[in-house]
Amino acid sequence: MVSHRYYFDWAATAIPVYTPVDTPWGNPSSLHSEGRAAHTALEDARRRCAAVLNVPSERLFFTSGATESNNIVLSSFLLRQQNTPLLYSAIEHSSIRETAALLKVYGKQMGIIGVEQDGRISRTTVIRAFEKYQRSRFAAIMAVNNEVGSIMDMADLVRAIREYAAVPVHIHSDIVQAVGKIPVALSEWDIDSAVLSAHKIGGPRGIGLLYLRKPLEVLFRGGGQEQHIRPGTENVAGAVALAACLEQYVYPETLKNNYEQAVSRNAYLISFLKTIPRCSLIPADRQAIDPRFSPYILHVAFEGIPGEVLVRALDDAGFAVSTGSACSVTRQERPVLAAMGINNHLTVEGIRISQGWLTTKEDIEALCTALQKLLYFL
Ligand code: PLP
Repeated sequence: MVSHRYYFDWAATAIPVYTPVDTPWGNPSSLHSEGRAAHTALEDARRRCAAVLNVPSERLFFTSGATESNNIVLSSFLLRQQNTPLLYSAIEHSSIRETAALLKVYGKQMGIIGVEQDGRISRTTVIRAFEKYQRSRFAAIMAVNNEVGSIMDMADLVRAIREYAAVPVHIHSDIVQAVGKIPVALSEWDIDSAVLSAHKIGGPRGIGLLYLRKPLEVLFRGGGQEQHIRPGTENVAGAVALAACLEQYVYPETLKNNYEQAVSRNAYLISFLKTIPRCSLIPADRQAIDPRFSPYILHVAFEGIPGEVLVRALDDAGFAVSTGSACSVTRQERPVLAAMGINNHLTVEGIRISQGWLTTKEDIEALCTALQKLLYFL
């Protein structure tokens, strides 16, 4: 049994840095002192998040996380009579894909925005989708993909949509894997809604944010908290922790330093992997230093070894990696890789190695040594 653990599944959940302590525990809706203290703490957290994200604080809504936030936006279309096609990219997280499938069951017309072989959405694939679904008024495009790490040029894609579409389009972006990793500029990107999650940036689970540029009528009903967008008693401690994480990791100097260190560690890892004949990077043309991809996420396959087998073998050796999105781990299909045109056998053999701010060069070296040993036997 190994004693030291090496953690390489930051894209599933980051090692927590902030846990909520000492936050007022009252219900923010209560009128007594305990309630008012909680309300003040909640609103203070919202203001701090808004300052980091550079958006008005009244346009930010605390939710239980990104899955719920994505669901809130998409399911709101069930309340609308108009049936113009809703577009989402082929590489979206399951909380978009599965909700889109549900909307389809309820009669909504859905369309897919295709993806290039490198896992990025391009002007071409976006325009193609809008040519096919001319009347579309909604598009969901994630900023960074959680399985292969591809980075979208959000500002350019939004510009392309606004130039091409004859009608106003609501552009929604899942920025979960972008926040704290690459610069995020909601206002400059000119998007209408965005979602993020605290546990991907060192905060606790069960708290996230939804940014909405304009009010939205949502499906949820309840006590009217969060301006009716997310009714239900608020998670004050989570909100305070989320604000602290955003302040720490989105701070430009920290973001840049962390990014540069991740690039250097990832370049080392990729250069090592390129020396292994059985190893295929996904996509194959990913370079050691490659601005198309987040340096925090790497997808790789080893010929003849199912991803699940390697994940278990690495776990026994003390290393935590995953086969892909933690949210789809029980499913066999790999829709993101399939959309990129990745060979069937590679999708079965793929594993995701994701790092974070606490990952060290020594961790990467240990992983390389462990892989070398394991590949000898497997
Ligand atoms: N969107 C992306 C891109 C993710 O990586 C994840 C988590 O895996 C989610 C959404 C879901 O986030 P949460 O766990 O907050 O529901």
